[in-house]
Amino acid sequence: MLYLSTRGHPDRKRFCEILLEGLAPDGGLYLPERYPQVDAATLARWRGLPYADLAFEILSLYIDDIPADDLRALCRKTYTAKVFGTTEIVPLRKLEDGVYLEALSNGPTLAFKDMAMQLLGNLFEYELARRGEELNILGATSGDTGSAAEYAMKGKKGIRVFMTSPHGRMSPFQQAQMFSLQEPNIHNIAIEGVFDDCQDIVKAVSNDLAFKRQWRIGTVNSINWARLVAQVVYYFAGYFQATQSNEQKVSFAVPSGNFGNICAGHVARMMGLPVERLVAATNENDVLDEFFRTGTYRVRGSADTFETSSPSMDISKASNFERFVFDLLGRDGERTRRLFGPELAAKGQFSLASEVAEARGRYGFASGKSTHDNRLVTIRDTFERFGTLIDTHTADGVKVAREQMQPGVPMIVLETALPIKFASTIVEALGREPERPAGFEGIEQLPKRVQVMPADVDGIKRYITQHCA
Ligand SMILES: *Cc1c(COP(=O)(O)O)cnc(C)c1O
Repeated sequence: MLYLSTRGHPDRKRFCEILLEGLAPDGGLYLPERYPQVDAATLARWRGLPYADLAFEILSLYIDDIPADDLRALCRKTYTAKVFGTTEIVPLRKLEDGVYLEALSNGPTLAFKDMAMQLLGNLFEYELARRGEELNILGATSGDTGSAAEYAMKGKKGIRVFMTSPHGRMSPFQQAQMFSLQEPNIHNIAIEGVFDDCQDIVKAVSNDLAFKRQWRIGTVNSINWARLVAQVVYYFAGYFQATQSNEQKVSFAVPSGNFGNICAGHVARMMGLPVERLVAATNENDVLDEFFRTGTYRVRGSADTFETSSPSMDISKASNFERFVFDLLGRDGERTRRLFGPELAAKGQFSLASEVAEARGRYGFASGKSTHDNRLVTIRDTFERFGTLIDTHTADGVKVAREQMQPGVPMIVLETALPIKFASTIVEALGREPERPAGFEGIEQLPKRVQVMPADVDGIKRYITQHCA
């Protein structure tokens, strides 16, 4: 399997080459040259597999430069009941007639990013050891991504993590999750500033190519293909749990921000998984809903990017969206380059008014939007009628799922986080605190390992060089 850039660059690369890279050299995103097709016999064979073995089957269609036995061992080491809480790994439960919740948030940080990041940690460690190299991951987080990365990379050989976050701006629970890690390869850096300051620092350091090369700086952001392909697995696992036979179809509702999660659903569908609809649910930051309704993709400025109670979906542009548009345009790299390069830079938007009908028809996309009030009502209603407490992001998914139901087609809502992570909104909705999963009692009282620093690029560089011994 070879990988190409969505912007038409002529190079083709193998999986392990793009594993440790970010963007393609032309600024595009990597995609496989073709989507492997899963026939009925294969689908039938996969139905009974444990999650780790299903992961191996799917990943081995995309990864041919890691020996099969090693890849299987990596999958089995990653997807264990000990790490993800149950033997099903992503258990499905019925919410109401025709609506199911697929639990993706029982990993170490209680959000779905663990599903891919835990595998990425093991893949990185394996590949770096094979090359005899090291990697220093520099990131910026306002919550979920940073903690998922730290829990995936902690204690891994050849890897250090330098994670910046805005000082005093994460929830006490999120701070406790990250700052209580005592592994020496994890460095928490609280920046005196806001999230944008953290992101600017990461960009400035990454743009210093000499520094980047000398200190082997890398990232783990959501455009990494390995993260995306790991997420394809749970679409298959959810399908098998919701159906008895491979004649049936299901739909998925996906709380969406950067379009990484739902893009994995698109890949699963392109491989032949019987998916009727892929429903993108957004919060007030409705870049994606606007596109699927009108065909216009309009990037938001910071003044139009809202801080909401489903904060992990507060995005101004959807960084994985380019992958889908590339497919929608019949894999025309030149046109994709023009849209996401010069056109977005000049106008901040582009319109695919005629193609968007195909996005809804041929590619099965639908969308909807949910606001703070919708979120509160959905959390309350779901708790009162079904006794099930859902988090704010999942509530956006449930709200939009109900609008997009079709008779006879089960709707699987992806549960992307547990309510404890967003306790203040749960209290607002229900007047009570969410339950704490076992093992998280009193984490706010644990000793914290964090360095507070001013928003200064040189200071961060100095910190990195001093801790790379
Ligand atoms: C990251 C995240 C999302 C959005 O996922 P994308 O892949 O960016 O679309 C939704 N919910 C939660 C809880 C998240 O952490």
